[in-house]
Order: sequence, then C-alpha cells, then structure tokens
Amino acid sequence: MLTNRTEVAPLGRARADSIERQRDELAAAIPRHYQPALYFGASNLVAVLAIVVAFTQLNDVHAWEWLIVPFAFLVANWVEYRVHRGPMHHQRRPWQILFERHTCQHHVYFDDGHMSARNAREYYWVFFPWWAVGLVVVTAAVFALPLWLFVARNLGLLFFAVGISYYLTYEWLHLSYHVPAQSVIGRLPMAGVLRRLHTAHHDTALMTTQNFNITFPIFDWLSGTLGNRDTQQARAHGDGPGKKERGQFRS
Ligand SMILES: [Zn+2]
Ligand SMILES: [Zn+2]
Repeated sequence: MLTNRTEVAPLGRARADSIERQRDELAAAIPRHYQPALYFGASNLVAVLAIVVAFTQLNDVHAWEWLIVPFAFLVANWVEYRVHRGPMHHQRRPWQILFERHTCQHHVYFDDGHMSARNAREYYWVFFPWWAVGLVVVTAAVFALPLWLFVARNLGLLFFAVGISYYLTYEWLHLSYHVPAQSVIGRLPMAGVLRRLHTAHHDTALMTTQNFNITFPIFDWLSGTLGNRDTQQARAHGDGPGKKERGQFRS
C-alpha cells in the first residue's frame, strides 16, 4: 500500500516529469566504463564456476539427499518474495540501497508502458550491481554451511548450488522481461507469461501490492498477491494491456 510518504515521493516525481527525461537522467548516471555484456558475462562466469565447484565436491549422493533441491528452490523463492516485497519497496535500515536501486531507479526507468531498455547499456538498470554475485555466493554459503557441518556435506553443497542457480535464473528471466518483446529472448513462451506478471508489477499503482516473485510466482500465489494484469488494468484504466501512453506520466 502506498501509505508511507518517503515511498510516495520518488514515484510522485516520476509521474510529474517526463518519463523520457527521467530515463535520460538515469542513463547519464551509468558509469562510462560500463559494458553490459562484459559485466553480465563475468557475473555469469562466477556463478557457473561456483555451481561447478559445488557439484565436483559431491560424493555418493543418496536418493533422499536430492530432496534438498526442491526445498532449496522453495527457500530461494520465499527469499525473493520477501526481499522484493519488503526492503526493495520499503525503506528499511540498513537496506536503503535496495529501495533506492529498485523503487527509485529500476521502477522509474521501467514502468508498465515502457518495459524495454532503449539500448544495451541501459540494462545497467536491470542487472544487480557488480558486487551482487559475490554477495549471493557468500549468502548461499552461510546458509549451506550448517547443513554441511551438522547434517550432511552433500546437502550443504546442493543447497549452495541451487541458491546460485536461482540467482542466475532470476537475472536471466528479469532480463527477458526488459528486452524488446519481439527479440529472441522476449519471444520465449515462458518468458511471455512471466513477463505479463512482471509488467503488471511495474504499474506504479500495483507495484507495492502485486507480483513480488520475479521468477516463478509460487509465494505470490500462496500469499494472495498474484495479480491479473488484464483485470486490474481494465478496472483502473478502462483499456487493454500495453495501451498506456507516455503522456499519462507527463505533468
Ligand atoms: Zn523489472
Ligand atoms: Zn518491484
């Protein structure tokens, strides 16, 4: 719910100004040395290496130990849901950087009428910062270590590998929602369904209430926050999806 004044202010500015001007300002803030392919390739490489190392350390995995895979997936889905619904959309110490990066920048750059980046450099506002992959590796290791030490080594390794894999899935799926819909990635069937849910989330009227799972909407479904864009938009705007004009955001 948009009840906190500190949360309303950035969105109010976004609506008051031209979205193109907002985008130009954010584009100007992208570091000059930023190379999206290099950055994304490097973070993928680190993540894949971490997964490969974990799998090479597995030893004689028992059938029951594989059950940790769906469990770790659900934990990751819950973490994604809680972090997005919480600090990414509400200013909470010490996580203000998440609110700033997500609500004040990602949601300002992309609204539900402007879901595609104008050029590859502007995927800067889609990907996590460069240090995120390191943070994900450390966090996954912190969660996996007790399993390794106190239950079974294989469980810790599999939990770690699923956590890193989930991060990669998140980055690739989120990218697929913000590339042009006609591109190869944008035309993937599963990306289309999930993209519609994420597009609804980028409606500033719905972003604090609906579709917090950016990958698979399991905890949205369980929590009753899974939004139907067609229903919501028809009710709010009286037209179909994708018809919102840029002029609606101009002062
Ligand atoms: Zn997004
Ligand atoms: Zn969001």
